[in-house]
Amino acid sequence: PTSMGYRGRFAPSPTGPLHAGSLVAALASWLDARAHGGRWLVRLEDVDAPRCIPGADALILQQLAACGLHPDEPVVWQSDRAAAYAQALEGLIEAGWAYPCVCTRKDIDRAWAARGVTHARHAERVYPGTCRPEHGGLQGRPARAWRLHVGRVQAARHLPAPLPWIDRRLGPQRQAVEREVGDFVLRRADGLWAYQLAVVVDDAWQGITHVVRGEDLADNTARQIVLQQALGLPTPQYLHTPLVLGANGEKLSKQNGAAALDVSDPLRALNQAAQVLGLPAQATSPGQALATWVALWRQRWASASPSADRR
Ligand code: GLU
Repeated sequence: PTSMGYRGRFAPSPTGPLHAGSLVAALASWLDARAHGGRWLVRLEDVDAPRCIPGADALILQQLAACGLHPDEPVVWQSDRAAAYAQALEGLIEAGWAYPCVCTRKDIDRAWAARGVTHARHAERVYPGTCRPEHGGLQGRPARAWRLHVGRVQAARHLPAPLPWIDRRLGPQRQAVEREVGDFVLRRADGLWAYQLAVVVDDAWQGITHVVRGEDLADNTARQIVLQQALGLPTPQYLHTPLVLGANGEKLSKQNGAAALDVSDPLRALNQAAQVLGLPAQATSPGQALATWVALWRQRWASASPSADRR
């Protein structure tokens, strides 16, 4: 679908019910859409099937509805979108910008060790380019994953390294994707589609103009911009929201056992999320609270500002 005007989304992974932290991202994306007079979509990111919990998708939608956050269009499940991801990967392969990789985690560690690099974080996260076609490719071993050739995309699309981008809240950001991340995975060794490919294909397919999501995802943005460039897709504007920290000072996440969001008192749940976003608590009803926050959000985030409106 193509559309003029603002289109935003909330894109939870159904690996469990919403927790207090995920409501912050949901509320912020909803407020930003309403403040811009735009549309708000919900996309269930269930590509990582082994981590998804049956029924969590329905639960998430119920939790959102209980808080008065209703999507403006039918909900999309990424598990229905495999054909689109396959087509995108095909295009990248044809362009010579995606290549198959045989490396296990161990292979990657060994490749770094051979270069005298043992810094764990580096060896773990950055792909050393072992299977790049110019290094001889697969050499007869069976392909496991497909990776984006970041260097070729950067050169062909004249992308600066490091790649600069602007976050509406955090300000100017930059990441040298090739050096700091390496050729990242598009399709995993287990055949599952990688988050980066799915999110970029779907944001474009749904005509998303503004991405509002938790700050823990900010680090993915430069990769997503490189991929958008490779696929000839537009880049949305980005706003990353503050995280909710648990008692131990770590960010709340399903992985570290954050409690499911209690929506038996929606106003209380909304007030807690609003507080994280710097919005004053309301003592009225969820509907009136949302209306008050939309007006405040519009003043803060949606007033015409040349830098905020830059694409
Ligand atoms: N599905 C991702 C998550 O739940 C969010 C994706 C996004 O907003 O880009 O962490």
